[in-house]
Amino acid sequence: MAVKFSDNKYKWAIALALSTIASFCSAQESRYSFEKGMMGSPFKLVFYAKNDSIANVAAQAAFKRIEKLNELLSDYRDGSEINLLSAQSGSGKWVQVSDELFNILAISQDISEKTDGAFDATLGPVVQMWRHATRKGIFPADSAIRDAMSRTGYKKLKLDAKRKKVLLTQKGMRLDIGGLGKGFAAEEAVKVLRSFGIKSIMMDAGGKIVLTNPPPGTKGWNITISNGSDSLKTMPLSHVALATSGPTYRYMEYNGIRYSHIVDPKTGIGLLFHVRTTVISPDGTVADALATAFSVAGIEKSKQMIKQFPESRVWLVEKQEEQVAEWNTLE
Ligand code: AMP
Ligand code: MG
Repeated sequence: MAVKFSDNKYKWAIALALSTIASFCSAQESRYSFEKGMMGSPFKLVFYAKNDSIANVAAQAAFKRIEKLNELLSDYRDGSEINLLSAQSGSGKWVQVSDELFNILAISQDISEKTDGAFDATLGPVVQMWRHATRKGIFPADSAIRDAMSRTGYKKLKLDAKRKKVLLTQKGMRLDIGGLGKGFAAEEAVKVLRSFGIKSIMMDAGGKIVLTNPPPGTKGWNITISNGSDSLKTMPLSHVALATSGPTYRYMEYNGIRYSHIVDPKTGIGLLFHVRTTVISPDGTVADALATAFSVAGIEKSKQMIKQFPESRVWLVEKQEEQVAEWNTLE
């Protein structure tokens, strides 16, 4: 004899099954969000994890990794590995460095070569000079700019990939990886989260963002990009990195002229025209470095440079007084 369910019984069974699936899914994946001030910027971490304890442990481990990187790579810290390396410039000594420092310098040098030096991690002496000038509100003398500039140049930085050793060929050189450090930190933090089995991640390291899988059941992370004025774009993105460089609170104003914290390696002076650059690349370190490099290069030169980075896309806005020029390959 066939068993017959009433309509109602069916409804109950389906409702029960659905609610079981729903609670199973939510037990599997909840959204977690963490925020912390690091490397002088707000760092935001959003991801999906099975429960609170995994989420908390993973987030703390990710922040700890960034803290460790900051200890090695910050040029603000006297005893950081990068500053100890700079202190040996001109000694003729090949210095053994950590994997982290070596890897970031290797990426930096590669980008320098491909951007004809628009990106340059040896600008430390000039960046230092500008930080001083900004604090004091005094424009540096020509002689000071010339002196700082004479101690820069990415070709004076040599890498030995086999032995992970570095040589700074001239005395008084100073490395500054501020142009790609946050993108690198974001990538490293994502690796830590992945080691906890976390798959859907958005790591925002002060505007340098790395995205992995989309949030469960969605097409991507809704990322809003601005061109600096009122024009905004929201795009669902995943498995990419994006970085924005632009006019922030970090600039110097002198005689009514604004100088950006991004320096033109050819002149040793902060960029004069307002630029805002967003780059999307497969890798966060590269996206970060390119956003800085394209800001320096401007629209016309960047159009040539991007041929070396076929997987990258860019939105570059240049403002000179009332004149605005844009170049957008994001869509
Ligand atoms: P970002 O916000 O990524 O564009 O990085 C800006 C920081 O990069 C500055 O504060 C400097 O520490 C450093 N920097 C400035 N100019 C350059 C440049 N031309 N190439 C590489 N790094 C730079
Ligand atoms: Mg950058």
